[in-house]
Amino acid sequence: MNETELIRNLDLFKGDLAGTGCKLIAVSKTKPVDLLQAAYNAGVRIFGENKVQEMTEKHEALPKDIEWHMIGHLQRNKVKYIAPFVSLIHSVDSLKLLKEINKRAKQNERVIDCLFQIHIAEEDTKFGLNEEELFAIIESDEFQKMENVRMKGLMGMATFTSDFAQIRKEFTALKNLFNKTGSKFVADNLDFTELSMGMSNDYKIAIKEGSTMIRVGSLIFGEREKK
Ligand SMILES: *Cc1c(COP(=O)(O)O)cnc(C)c1O
Repeated sequence: MNETELIRNLDLFKGDLAGTGCKLIAVSKTKPVDLLQAAYNAGVRIFGENKVQEMTEKHEALPKDIEWHMIGHLQRNKVKYIAPFVSLIHSVDSLKLLKEINKRAKQNERVIDCLFQIHIAEEDTKFGLNEEELFAIIESDEFQKMENVRMKGLMGMATFTSDFAQIRKEFTALKNLFNKTGSKFVADNLDFTELSMGMSNDYKIAIKEGSTMIRVGSLIFGEREKK
């Protein structure tokens, strides 16, 4: 991957996103800092990472006007490392995790924006809440008292498949839950505007289904090494 290729890849998204109100999160996990710097030079300001240590190191090395989004499963004991600077946590999947984020945000005198991660895929390997679990969190007293987290919306990952009808069905379900949550819990510590869905494989469908944030890695930075 050289800079010319990177810029060409980024340009591909300009047309798809124009006029949609949907933002591009450049998923830079496993990629070296100089490639992120090249993307920054080409105008990218939002990067998504899925490992705490990697995100922290990249945050230290790169310009300070970058928004860092945590998109991967987040362990409670690691929240403290990203609490000073993270812009959006996409992967809130338990009340316990949210409590920890609230506590660390408070220590840093911040309000941290978060999304609830919802399980929409057929695979049971993907993390996330179902509707019942989501509503249980929002209705809990503990959640109601939290002052240092702001819930901005929902995130989901569709099944990894070439069956577009299946993907569309899952994104529609997420969008419906997003609308239901936003209207059912108005003013309950919620400020629901964001729907994070769509990756390299399915971002076009996601945009059509109303995504406000697509999380794209390999189509921008090239395939990642398999571990
Ligand atoms: C890795 C990852 C992405 C990006 O995946 P690509 O297929 O490379 O676009 C998006 N969202 C999450 C949660 C990820 O872990």
